[in-house]
Amino acid sequence: MMKTTSATPAGTTDASATPTSHSHFDGVDLQLLAERIATPFHAYSASAIHQRIEALKTALVGLDATICFAVKANPNLAILQLMANAGLGADIVSVGELRRALNAGMPAERIVFSGVGKSADEIAGALNVGIMRFNVESLDELHTLQRIARAQEVTARAAVRINPDVDAQTHAKISTGKSENKFGVSIDEARRWFAQRKSFDHVQLDGLHVHIGSQILDVQPFRLALARVAAFWRELEHAGHPITSIDVGGGLGVCYRAGVDHPVSTTDYVAAIREALAGFRGRLLLEPGRWLVAEAGVLLTRVIRVKPGTERNFLILDAAMNDLLRPSLYDAWHDIVPVSDQPRPMATYDIVGPVCETGDTFASARELPECAAGDLLLIKATGAYGTSMASTYNSRPLAAEVLLHQGRYAVIRRRQHFEEMIAGEQPARNWKTP
Ligand SMILES: *Cc1c(COP(=O)(O)O)cnc(C)c1O
Repeated sequence: MMKTTSATPAGTTDASATPTSHSHFDGVDLQLLAERIATPFHAYSASAIHQRIEALKTALVGLDATICFAVKANPNLAILQLMANAGLGADIVSVGELRRALNAGMPAERIVFSGVGKSADEIAGALNVGIMRFNVESLDELHTLQRIARAQEVTARAAVRINPDVDAQTHAKISTGKSENKFGVSIDEARRWFAQRKSFDHVQLDGLHVHIGSQILDVQPFRLALARVAAFWRELEHAGHPITSIDVGGGLGVCYRAGVDHPVSTTDYVAAIREALAGFRGRLLLEPGRWLVAEAGVLLTRVIRVKPGTERNFLILDAAMNDLLRPSLYDAWHDIVPVSDQPRPMATYDIVGPVCETGDTFASARELPECAAGDLLLIKATGAYGTSMASTYNSRPLAAEVLLHQGRYAVIRRRQHFEEMIAGEQPARNWKTP
């Protein structure tokens, strides 16, 4: 990589390690790039993603572990291809994600299927291609899996998603492992499933799964959840129910706010797994999403205009909540910086998009070097849950996505054309009765 890049090396999340210049990303001059590609667009550093993958693999050395990238974090085909080429599998939550993973070259035997609302069609489709495992989240789903597997004359491999009732200390909307959340089942309920597992003769129920939430910045909730899963695994083995895989989910947090967010290191995270699951001889599965891609992505945007208000000054960008929903949805913080290094006096802005919603706000009362129309800005750490949550609200086309690698770039999604946006819509013509 060239001298200046904000592709933070994996493991180093210390603010002091973040270069002050934002002129380059993965060796690519961002001013020049923004002359080639119209803003707003998302740019991802392939080097930064590779660094994360390698750091995680290094921490896992010696374990029989498979990393299944949570596709919903960033489902772009080129990103999935990069993951597949690095030997990763996929954690999917829909048949759409299954098709993306398969299209990207991920082998079915490295795909796990999670989610509370798998439809019968989705289960049939995933069984049909022979995915590695279903993470089953309710008794009704287990019955459906048995019925469809019997009809297809196959045996489905399944894990129970345990809801360990642990508080992940994260935003309420991304907590998934408390008993009031819709995800997984209690250990008591899972115990009853195993007791009657022989009656599900087309389901090989021999796995445990847990995923307690996202953007977790403390190792303690992981430890608690793993301890509960580990105790249950030992109990099951004792009761004659062999467990061949334990899936520890995703949830590792990243640095959205330099100097404030202190992510758990991969070493500490994997140490917690090693400790809790000591003696486990089966396969370990991990489902990181955010951690692999968030800090490898930035949203490039230009200032449309500065609007002085009576109370505040508004910096109006050409990016909006339809390109990056996290601030509107979760009040999420994203660091925002000018691409130019020119020293300028600081100013305070509400940084907003053009969408007709007060919620279309990226930051309130944010200190920033003074900006003018046309300035290029970076919204940082947008590689996860950015484009995957994007919409065409206000009839704004989906933004382009660009992959960067050591000074070069490749467009991995061009900006949506107007015709594509309205494809499928039609005048009400052929009226019918159902
Ligand atoms: C979303 C999700 C993940 C990924 O979570 P991150 O916080 O992005 O790592 C992993 N497993 C399951 C079941 C999920 O729903």
